[in-house]
Amino acid sequence: MTLERVWLYTNFDCNLQCTYCLSSSHPKALRRELTFGDYRSLVDEAQALGIPELCLTGGEPFLLQDMEQRLDYALQRGLRVTVLTNGLLLSGSRLTAMAHLNKAPLTLQVSLDGDRVGGERQAAEALVTGVADAACMHEGNYRAFIGEGLFPPMSTEVVAYVGPYDHCNMTAGPSIAPEQADAFAARLLAMSYDDPELRPLFDLEGLTKWVAPRTHGYQPLSLAVAALGVSLAIEA
Ligand code: SF4
Repeated sequence: MTLERVWLYTNFDCNLQCTYCLSSSHPKALRRELTFGDYRSLVDEAQALGIPELCLTGGEPFLLQDMEQRLDYALQRGLRVTVLTNGLLLSGSRLTAMAHLNKAPLTLQVSLDGDRVGGERQAAEALVTGVADAACMHEGNYRAFIGEGLFPPMSTEVVAYVGPYDHCNMTAGPSIAPEQADAFAARLLAMSYDDPELRPLFDLEGLTKWVAPRTHGYQPLSLAVAALGVSLAIEA
């Protein structure tokens, strides 16, 4: 068996307090920090086992003042690193301190979903109760469900991963007039993170800009729906 990645929870406090947070993180939550010493030992162990990827989550990992050093430590040992972050602390001196990692195999994964209490949790519960044999979910949510004990140990297996796709899109129903949809899109795309009035809205979404929609990543799902002959009912 090949181990593809190791997940570490760096801390459990967070600068946000999302209602759907699976780690019950919030600004006053106990930090429960993985110490740098333990972190180093685990990274060394992952390297010795030939595990190529290290994924860090929390809480908000960038609340730890030494996150840059932690990233350096793992990257210098040849691991690819992915950090699940709400992105709000990645500005100013912290961002400047990370500039040298620009070309490193480092992914900062900013989740925009609010779905952990919705569809994906229902899918997970359907697996646990045997209603479903398989479910599709965000890997971060899958790990979080394991972490909170929803999935008993060794009770689930990852069958396949899909490629990257845009997780959140603004989707208009068929009843909207095209000119209204176009006007809405034009307003979004014209928003600037440099505008002090708009910046708080971007920060709430964890964004620095809106981009034109990219839906090609949904093709495997479209093909699966077509193969199963499932019809989608859309209410006007
Ligand atoms: S940003 Fe993430 S870790 Fe922080 S409270 Fe929200 S869901 Fe939890």
